Amino acid sequence: MAAATPSHYKREKYRGRLAPSPTGLLHAGHARTFHTAWQRARNARGALVMRMEDLDPDRSRAEYAEAALDDLHWLGLDWDEGPDIGGPFAPYAQSQRYAIYRAAMEQLVAGGFVYPCRCSRKDLAAAISAPHEDANQDPDDEPVYPGTCRPALHATDSWASTWADQATTANWRFRVPDGEAIEFTDSNLGPQRYIAGVDFGDFVVWRRDDVPSYQLACVADDAAMHITEVVRGADLLKSTARQILLNRALGHYNPAWFHCALMTDESGKRLAKRNDALSLRTLRERGFTPAQVLQANHALQ
Ligand code: GLU
Repeated sequence: MAAATPSHYKREKYRGRLAPSPTGLLHAGHARTFHTAWQRARNARGALVMRMEDLDPDRSRAEYAEAALDDLHWLGLDWDEGPDIGGPFAPYAQSQRYAIYRAAMEQLVAGGFVYPCRCSRKDLAAAISAPHEDANQDPDDEPVYPGTCRPALHATDSWASTWADQATTANWRFRVPDGEAIEFTDSNLGPQRYIAGVDFGDFVVWRRDDVPSYQLACVADDAAMHITEVVRGADLLKSTARQILLNRALGHYNPAWFHCALMTDESGKRLAKRNDALSLRTLRERGFTPAQVLQANHALQ
């Protein structure tokens, strides 16, 4: 079982993180999750890291990164390390941490955990951003890969020269152990179980345009920044299963996991950045106070 690895971080000081993607304005749902992350770090008298997940050069905007910091400050949150204040694990913007992701990728290549895939680009957008699932289906999540380019097992031994030659001409996928149950206990939602190859398939870790995927960058950073607990939305539960496999392949311990229930709109759909009416910016402009936004959140749970 993949998830059995205990967290050695439990013996360390609590370190949490806020990890906004600057691809749009933060909304009331983000406020709830980030507030929970902040509260848990402060209750544990731990450290909170602000990590700007501006990995995708096509979708990230500096003005959204600035707005995220400003809106979260407005909400009353603070952090101990981040792109605006520095810290021992700088830089805190993913766009500046390419070398770390590259090193992690080389480890995966050397270990035979990944293979090049020449299938169409249609999965790419899904692979690079954190796949937030909708309530019933999960159109934003990376579809289960049918295995078209998956080589025979023995062929995965060494892709080192292929990586060197083809790093930027193929997408690279992590080969999941088909049929293995990935189990973990979520500190909020309890026991979780996902079957590799069924609930999720071989997922992209490196894009052919030479950009690491969200999954790879996230585990590389959580390990490098000594994160002891990951607090995020429940739409990322399946990503946690993927990340547990990546942590195992990279020799990282797992942090503890705390997934927050998602906030939904009147029609039962989860809030997304497109729900502009509930952006923190709009709520601020309409005169809501931080306390009201957080209270409204809790009332809407
Ligand atoms: N940047 C990701 C997002 O906005 C963070 C996901 C995570 O917390 O790992 O969804």
